[in-house]
Amino acid sequence: MTQPAAPRIVSCPACGKPVPWVSESAFRPFCSERCRNIDLGAWAAEEYRMPEPEKPLQEDQ
Ligand SMILES: [Zn+2]
Repeated sequence: MTQPAAPRIVSCPACGKPVPWVSESAFRPFCSERCRNIDLGAWAAEEYRMPEPEKPLQEDQ
């Protein structure tokens, strides 16, 4: 009889929550779809970051 090995635990890159590395963890290494989306959003923001032209502050007061 083989004992099922304890699943490897990874930390969710978004929130640091421990996530068991098993097929049930559909969003691994993230703990949830929410965290995965957060990370994807961060990636996209980093990837497609445009150099923003400096806009002079309007001081019409
Ligand atoms: Zn998470």
